[in-house]
Amino acid sequence: MDLSFGPEHETFRKEVRSFVEQSWPPRGADLELPLAEQEARFREHAVERGYLYRSIPQRYGGSEQPFDALREAIVAEEFDRGKTPWRLGGQGVGMIVPTLLEVGEEWQREKFIPPTLRGDMVWCQGYSEPGAGSDLASLRSTARLEGDEWIIDGHKIWTSDASDAQYMFGLFRTEPDASKHGGISYLLLEMDQPGIEVRPLRQLTGALDFCEVFLDGARAPADWIVGSRGQGWQVTRVNLKHERNLGGGPAMRNLFRSLLELARRQSIEGRPAIEDPVVRRRLASIDCYVRCVETTHMRQLSAVSRGEEESVALPMMMNKLFQTDLRERIFRLAYDLLDADGLRNPAAEDLATWRNHTGTNTGWVEQYLFCLSGPIAAGSSNIQRNVIGERGLGLPRDIRPPSS
Ligand SMILES: Cc1cc2nc3c(=O)[nH]c(=O)nc-3n(C[C@H](O)[C@H](O)[C@H](O)COP(=O)(O)OP(=O)(O)OC[C@H]3O[C@@H](n4cnc5c(N)ncnc54)[C@H](O)[C@@H]3O)c2cc1C
Repeated sequence: MDLSFGPEHETFRKEVRSFVEQSWPPRGADLELPLAEQEARFREHAVERGYLYRSIPQRYGGSEQPFDALREAIVAEEFDRGKTPWRLGGQGVGMIVPTLLEVGEEWQREKFIPPTLRGDMVWCQGYSEPGAGSDLASLRSTARLEGDEWIIDGHKIWTSDASDAQYMFGLFRTEPDASKHGGISYLLLEMDQPGIEVRPLRQLTGALDFCEVFLDGARAPADWIVGSRGQGWQVTRVNLKHERNLGGGPAMRNLFRSLLELARRQSIEGRPAIEDPVVRRRLASIDCYVRCVETTHMRQLSAVSRGEEESVALPMMMNKLFQTDLRERIFRLAYDLLDADGLRNPAAEDLATWRNHTGTNTGWVEQYLFCLSGPIAAGSSNIQRNVIGERGLGLPRDIRPPSS
């Protein structure tokens, strides 16, 4: 098995590495800028160089590069290595941008994509409701067209970042007489309006990332609909298609390296924890899983770069489930290594400092607590198992309640 990227791509890797080394962390006067501005500048340069937002046309603020899975992987690896900013997180770049690119109207792309890529337009995703999570099509929030506006009523929950978002893309029942899946439309709306109340929910880490959103006569212009009336379910499928997850090998390896550093730094009975036989056994077991992820990643990458995505369709279905499980193993061991430091409360200090940060003990606590949401978020692990069993392995379908 040849796992090298080949000379052309190795030259590209050198070019990206040199860019990263010169650009991050910022130097000179740029160091005086607030972090958000430093990151925005870095992203701007990365787009100019053709490294970031590669599949997005230049007219919307992307770098419009021809599809090359290996180049994409190299950029991700080198940016990760240099701990640089990556594409903006949140639901905007990850979900609404690809959806608009695929099925949006031209005016919607022009209006919404450029500011979203710059981070000037923050979005939240209004899908889940108190009675509609895994069975999302049971959602009850409604929108009815009155003149040139949608009037929206209902209740969304677990809406990440809703308290910071200026816009929501969400699913609403617009065709009350249609079938369960056929009566839903995909609408965009402004959050700052009298018909919307956002109530943050405190989570295990102490952060207030999630919210309940109450909609009581909220309004959106009639043409702020993506796809046609009643086609919202199909539009969400487009979203999911763009969330291609190729195994995440390098990221898992880096996380494992951080875990090794922690095991060297912490001690058990006066000796470095990494010398403890039980810790070593757990580390070795995790290393085996990380190697599986790396090999799977390379296999999927090779297949995608040869245009043979179908050949790895089943392993690609398993990525989220496998990675969620592995992350939990890594963070659980880290948490055990922390000893009394595991009692630290990330929320008691400035949470932003610890977020996604494995360089400090408090950061590990925050990561451990947050990783417990992995098996629920973006499709629960049980549902993933059903999908793998039924669509991937062709097993008999799970018993479904009759659809109304
Ligand atoms: C970190 C995080 C971020 C989120 N962000 C958002 C967001 O921004 N916007 C948004 O709309 N939602 C968001 N969610 C909500 C998320 O999509 C839902 O939590 C998820 O779809 C599960 O729905 P539920 O919580 O209603 O659980 P339920 O669907 O009630 O499931 C409860 C349990 O039953 C199991 N179960 C349900 N159905 C089946 C079945 N058919 N077979 C086997 N087991 C089953 C599930 O696996 C789960 O263990 C977020 C959730 C998390 C944890």
